[in-house]
Amino acid sequence: MRRKLAAGNWKMNGTQASLAELGKLATAHAAPAVDILICPPATLITAACAHAPIAIGAQDCHMASAGAHTGDIAAAQLKDAGATAVILGHSERRDAHEEHSDLVRAKARAAQAEGLMAIVCMGESLAQREAQNTLDIIGGQLAGSIPDSSTGENLVVAYEPIWAIGTGLVPSLDQISEVHGFIRARLERRFGAGVGRSVRLLYGGSVKPDNAADIFTVPDVDGALVGGASLTAADFSPIIKALEAV
Ligand code: PEP
Repeated sequence: MRRKLAAGNWKMNGTQASLAELGKLATAHAAPAVDILICPPATLITAACAHAPIAIGAQDCHMASAGAHTGDIAAAQLKDAGATAVILGHSERRDAHEEHSDLVRAKARAAQAEGLMAIVCMGESLAQREAQNTLDIIGGQLAGSIPDSSTGENLVVAYEPIWAIGTGLVPSLDQISEVHGFIRARLERRFGAGVGRSVRLLYGGSVKPDNAADIFTVPDVDGALVGGASLTAADFSPIIKALEAV
């Protein structure tokens, strides 16, 4: 059985004052029936770790373990700061930092080697969907971004259509189902049924309190990666509850 996962991506939002939201979340979900993960900016990781049972993750890491990489952070440093997971290959990084799947795979390998869970993101643009290339794009990103070292414990795949991120647009449940089923089949083909069926698949893109319950009914949706609605306990808590109710 795959344990459900509600993951929040705070992106470049949040200061020390924002940790109060984590406190509220931890109080409201003292004994959660699902895994809860928040990925704040790196500046907040260590302080955020005071809010168990909320697990804390990062939003990127470097592929190297140390060295002359000004401004970057190694997976070992994230682990040292208290992170247990790291988001990799988010479309905002693929776009703004020109991160391609080979680099995402190298970062994921580095994260897994340090014992971090790699949450590898992938998704199509609106133009790619309209050209009916969605599954080709996802297939390519999946093959290129996922390292051979992956297991059900150290890999989570997040399907995040670019056009749904921060826009309020959400694919139909059939569209989500098609992509998640495709990802599951590809993972089983590559890693075998045991590993392939144990990797958790998250949907991400404008998940909100009012649409989460429907999205969580889709087969092979094991949770969500949530941006804007993870910033406050008032918005994220109902999403967690919807996942617990599945
Ligand atoms: C994201 O950026 O990972 C995301 C899903 O954002 P939002 O929930 O705000 O669409």
